[in-house]
Amino acid sequence: MVSEDGTTTENGKGGKIIPLRPVVMDYAWGIRGMDSRVGRYALESKILKEVDPDTPYAELWIGTHEKGPSVLGDGSGKTLKEAIGCDLPFLFKVLSAGKALSIQAHPDKNLAAQLHNQNPDAYGDANHKPEMAIALTPFEAMCGFRRIEEIALLLKKHPEFAACISQEAQLAVFLAETPKSQKDALQKLFSSFMTCDKAVSKAQLNKLLMRLQREQSNFHHHPHDEPAWERKCSRAILRLASQFPHDAGAMSPLFLNYLLIAPGESFFMAANEPHAYVAGEIIECMACSDNVVRAGLTPKYKDVPNLVEMLTYSMGGPSIDVGEPLIEEPRIARYTPPVPEFEVMIMTLEPGESLELENPKIPAILLVVEGSGEVDGKKLRPGQTYYWETPSDQVRLNKSADVAAGSEPAPSLPSSTLIFTVDAARRGPLKVAIAHENKNLDRPTSSTGTAEFPNLHGSLPWMGNLGRSPTPTALRNTYVAVDADTPAIPKL
Ligand SMILES: [Zn+2]
Repeated sequence: MVSEDGTTTENGKGGKIIPLRPVVMDYAWGIRGMDSRVGRYALESKILKEVDPDTPYAELWIGTHEKGPSVLGDGSGKTLKEAIGCDLPFLFKVLSAGKALSIQAHPDKNLAAQLHNQNPDAYGDANHKPEMAIALTPFEAMCGFRRIEEIALLLKKHPEFAACISQEAQLAVFLAETPKSQKDALQKLFSSFMTCDKAVSKAQLNKLLMRLQREQSNFHHHPHDEPAWERKCSRAILRLASQFPHDAGAMSPLFLNYLLIAPGESFFMAANEPHAYVAGEIIECMACSDNVVRAGLTPKYKDVPNLVEMLTYSMGGPSIDVGEPLIEEPRIARYTPPVPEFEVMIMTLEPGESLELENPKIPAILLVVEGSGEVDGKKLRPGQTYYWETPSDQVRLNKSADVAAGSEPAPSLPSSTLIFTVDAARRGPLKVAIAHENKNLDRPTSSTGTAEFPNLHGSLPWMGNLGRSPTPTALRNTYVAVDADTPAIPKL
């Protein structure tokens, strides 16, 4: 309890959680109606009175970004920014993608500032936007360039694609051997594809689609004879083309990695990496920014020169992060990107369990992902979002211990904790995602670069990493309990 003078009078209280009212974005690619998690979450957090079956509920924004600032749900009328006193360094989102989002990349800090200066209408934000996606459902996405060997193979196999690429760029792809020449070749290929005459790419796309459709339905063709990754690539092209008729961006699975990740799996997109979400639902966390350079699958402005210039042209799929269980509390998985602005913890509590969490001492956002339970006298339901207040310095002074004269000072107790409980009668677990500034920058769980596959001549082009072994980092993640008799309360 917090007494009137603001000091903690018993272990367990301090910073409290305040319900939030996030903002819903109804972009055209969103999932419609109650099928959309964003729609259901918005209903639960009372920002929508009802869910319209025809409206695409695409994104839920939880944060202080000026395009969609969250407001406290405590009736005070304050924004989250006013409550914290400044902007959050990150933006926390839920995405429900019914169809593909545009192929895009996000500039690094320098380029973001430069683009904002040059063209504030197209680039309203001067900040960079590294992003991390954690899947809530099976999730399809394109991320990063394919390895050059795969692209060379696909150029040979799909003459319609080759017809959109200059002879010079094709030669560069086929001849590239060193990492430097491979990057140069990839840049040539991408630039050539992006600047291909519209009439040519449209005609070639039509030819490609007719052939792929014929092949998929022709029983003389044996789709199972071709490697799974090639078949998935062909099907992805057909699907994207049905969503974006006449947009040559539908050919992008021929040069971008196409991946399917399972719930709980995650990948990180560094600056200047091309990517596109295709379908499924995720939690997304990013630096507080809305900066996008688009490349295709969109009727919006495509900034081809800047895009061709900015990309890193690294090859191979992203490394897939499965979340790293905390040593002191394996029911919490940590997803830590290699950027300072954010990290995400996911807590999973089974029916009948309870868990005490220590306040991270920096502003944190809680999102109830699924299940139900209780915390701080509040009933938790999927879709609710909370701001977890940082306890004031005064509150951190713990005055609860009656220290007998002459005895050892009592070990300092946690300044502020939350106790989550799940009723034993519940059917499934309670999952809560917690986002805050990155406190584990020195031990990220996901990497910036793309996964390197030394066995380039093997027959397994990248279709999904097997998941990073948690052991090496987990070993470094040592937790020291102050007092062996005191149960360890996980530090976020
Ligand atoms: Zn993005």
